[in-house]
Amino acid sequence: MPSYFRSSVDAMAGYIPGEQPKPGTLIVKLNTNENPYPPSPNAIAVLRSLDPEWLRRYPDPYANDFRQAASEALDIPKDWIMVGNGSDDILNVIVRACAEPGRKVVYPMPTYVLYRTLVEMQVADRVEISYGDRYEFPINELIAAQGAITFIASPNSPSGHSIALSDLRHLAAKLTGVLVIDEAYVDFAEETALPLVHEFENVLILRTLSKGYSLAGLRLGFAISNPQLLSGLFKVKDSYNIDAIATLVGTAAIRDQNYKNECAERVKRSRAKLAIDLKQLGWKVWNSQTNFLLTQPQDNAEEIYLALKERGILVRYFKQLGLDDKLRITVGTDEQNQTLIEALQAIATPNRKAH
Ligand SMILES: *Cc1c(COP(=O)(O)O)cnc(C)c1O
Repeated sequence: MPSYFRSSVDAMAGYIPGEQPKPGTLIVKLNTNENPYPPSPNAIAVLRSLDPEWLRRYPDPYANDFRQAASEALDIPKDWIMVGNGSDDILNVIVRACAEPGRKVVYPMPTYVLYRTLVEMQVADRVEISYGDRYEFPINELIAAQGAITFIASPNSPSGHSIALSDLRHLAAKLTGVLVIDEAYVDFAEETALPLVHEFENVLILRTLSKGYSLAGLRLGFAISNPQLLSGLFKVKDSYNIDAIATLVGTAAIRDQNYKNECAERVKRSRAKLAIDLKQLGWKVWNSQTNFLLTQPQDNAEEIYLALKERGILVRYFKQLGLDDKLRITVGTDEQNQTLIEALQAIATPNRKAH
């Protein structure tokens, strides 16, 4: 069959998401950084009492109820917020609005794999700058590259580390293009780069309800930046990119900051314990500002990934240079983490396994 696609699409690898077994499947799912706790009870109540009239009508194209709630919860003006169908949708909109052949899109590696997919789709010039073994921020190379867009995930995935606010401020000051700071994991971190949107007109912060608010299935994310920068993005987005249910449920969730913060505190406590337990098994564990840990087992990472999968435990293995000896493990409940540790002990000493 001849190709029906643009040559750039034929050349793309395509994004490969983590495995998603159906809810109810007996599995300990520590592979895609979902929150182990349910969403806010207020959000669930809104979902249960939904008036079908919301479904008959088109939704508000700007999700203004959500913008209002986010504005109050985070103390940012409402017109500094743009809402998307997950932050992935907003990443897509940014690339469509700012990138094209001959324009550079720059990001340090390894990082969120979707950045590459989007740049390839738009046939922009991709500049990937290595973090190196110790994940030190390659600030001089990032400045020298002068991207039309520079993507920085902070905290970063899969490394789990945050970029210092002073480094991000320095970078913002030296770039002529847009600096996108992807804060998908900020709810588990010590610091946010949010103040930079008031200091620099080229800074855009991305947030999501998928991780901190336990709403990955809802698909809701948002950008925070000055209205001038957002105006170009509004032109490019799908008119009805956020559905009525996501707007209603997300509005209740973001109003419930206390619940979100309590769950994040539990995840952070479990993260500390899981790190200690893994180190006791002789694993290397990187410091994390997220709800996952980047780890390096003593034995073959891919074999451990497969052995865990056989036992109904999913973790993330990236068959990628610099990562193929590591595993990224989402922090679960203490009970799930304990199941993982016991499975790892059994895998490490198979002669003790009951037959
Ligand atoms: C999970 C994640 C996203 C995607 O968030 P959605 O709002 O679910 O689309 C974006 N960036 C990073 C770094 C992530 O880990």
